Amino acid sequence: MDYVERILEEVKRKNPGEAEFHQAATEILESLKPVVERRPEYEKVALLERFVEPERVVLFRVPWVDDKGMVHVNKGYRVQFNSAIGPYKGGLRFHPSVNLSIIKFLGLEQILKNSLTGLPIGGGKGGSDFDPKGRSDGEVMRFCQSFMTELYRHIGQDTDVPAGDIGVGSREIGYLFGQYKRICSEHAGVLTGRGLSYGGSLVRTEATGYGLVYMVEEALACRGDSFEGKTVVVSGAGNVAIYAAEKAQSLGANVVAMYDSDGYIYDKRGIDLSVMKKIKEQERARIKEYAVRVPGAEYHAGCKGIWNIPCDIALPCATQNEIDAASAAALVKNGVKIVAEGANMPTTLEGIEVFQRAGVVFLPAKAANAGGVATSALEMAQSGGRLFWTFEQVDAKLKSIMVNIYHNMDEAAREYGLKGDYVAGANIAGFLKIADAMVAQGIV
Ligand code: NDP
Repeated sequence: MDYVERILEEVKRKNPGEAEFHQAATEILESLKPVVERRPEYEKVALLERFVEPERVVLFRVPWVDDKGMVHVNKGYRVQFNSAIGPYKGGLRFHPSVNLSIIKFLGLEQILKNSLTGLPIGGGKGGSDFDPKGRSDGEVMRFCQSFMTELYRHIGQDTDVPAGDIGVGSREIGYLFGQYKRICSEHAGVLTGRGLSYGGSLVRTEATGYGLVYMVEEALACRGDSFEGKTVVVSGAGNVAIYAAEKAQSLGANVVAMYDSDGYIYDKRGIDLSVMKKIKEQERARIKEYAVRVPGAEYHAGCKGIWNIPCDIALPCATQNEIDAASAAALVKNGVKIVAEGANMPTTLEGIEVFQRAGVVFLPAKAANAGGVATSALEMAQSGGRLFWTFEQVDAKLKSIMVNIYHNMDEAAREYGLKGDYVAGANIAGFLKIADAMVAQGIV
C-alpha cells in the first residue's frame, strides 16, 4: 500500500464517524500522491501523519441563560490544526450542525488555504452547535460572552486569531471581542472581522465574495472572456453569497438565483441586491420575503432545485456538500462553464468528478474563497502597525492576492502534469510551503 493510501486508512480508523473530515482528507491527500512520490523524505519524517493530526483540540462547555431565564448548554470547539507558517487562523461557526468532524474538515482545509494566500498564517477553526437564528441580541450576547470566557485562554494575537464564519458576523465578533477585552484587559488584534471603530479593516465584510469573483474574473480573462452578460447562480444569502453577487453584478453579470436554508429565489431579470440585503442583513428574515416584495420573482421551497437553473457560472456560497453528483450533472447538462466554490467543500467528491470529466473550470474553495482570510491577515497587519488603509488600497491587495493564487495553483498543476486540475494545483501549492516549514522545524 502506498504512503497516501496508508495514511487515509489511518485517518478513517483513528477518527471514526467523522465523515466530513474523511472527505476533506481524501480530497487533499489523493492529490498529494505525486508530491510524496517525488519527495520520499517526507515519509521518513512522518509528515503526512503529522499534517492530518491537529496540534491541539479544545472542547468545552458553553452554558448560557435565555430571555425567559432558562439555562442552555452548548458545545464549544477550537481546533488548532497547524502553526508551521504562522499563528493559527480560521473562523468560528455557530450552527446546530457543528460537530468535531465539521470543525476538523474546516481546519484541515484552512491550513492549505492560508498557505495559498502567501501570508504568514497557520490553520485553525472553531465554533459551536449554538443556533443564533431567532435569538434576541441579548441571548446572542450572553452566549458569546460565555463562549469567550473559556476561549480567551487559548487565543492571542501571536497564538491564534479567530474570525467569523456561518452564524458569526459583525454582531457576534463585537460581543466576543468585548468579552475578551474585559477578561484580558488588552485591546489586542485577537479576532478579525472587527468593526471599523475598534480595529477592523475596510473590505473585510466584502472580501470573501469579492475575492471569489476576482478569481473567476482572472480565469475568464485567461480564456479571453469576461463576466459581461453571463448568467450566474449563487447559493446562500449570507455574507459570502451577497458580496459575490454584488461584485459579479458590477462586472456585468446577471445573477438570477440565491437561497437560504428554506428555499430559493429565481428572479430572471436579476436579483435586486438592495432588497436582498435589507431582508438578510438588516431584518435577519427569510428569503421568501424577497418574492413578496419584488414582482416577477419566484420563490421555491427547498434548495436543490436551484442547480437546475441554466447558468454559465455557478457560485456555491452556503455550506458543505450542497452540490452532489446529480446536481453537478444538471449544471453540466445546462451548459455551466465555471464553478467556483465560495463556501467550504460545497461540492462532494463525486460532484467534483462530474465537473472535471465534463471539462468545467472548477475552482476549489481553499483557493477561491481565500479572500476572506487574506483580508483578515491584512487586518492583522494594519492593527499590528496601527495603520488604516483605504478601501481602494485593501481592495487592490485583495485582488492581487486572488490573481496570484490562481496562477500559483495553475502552475503547480502544470508542473505535476495535471494542467487544468485546480483541485490538485491548490492542494500541491498550499502543501509545499507547509511541508518545507514542518521539515525545517524538526519533529514537533
Ligand atoms: P452566513 O451565516 O453569513 O450565511 C450562510 C448562508 O448559507 C445563509 O444564507 C444560510 O441560510 C445558508 N445555509 C447555511 N447552511 C445551509 C444549509 N445546510 N442548507 C442551505 N443553506 C444553508 O455564512 P457565510 O456567508 O460567512 O459562510 C458561507 C460559507 O462560506 C461557509 O461554508 C463558510 O465556511 C464559507 N466561508 C466564509 C468566509 C467568510 O469570510 N465569511 C470565508 C471563507 C469561507 P440560513 O440563513 O437559512 O441558515
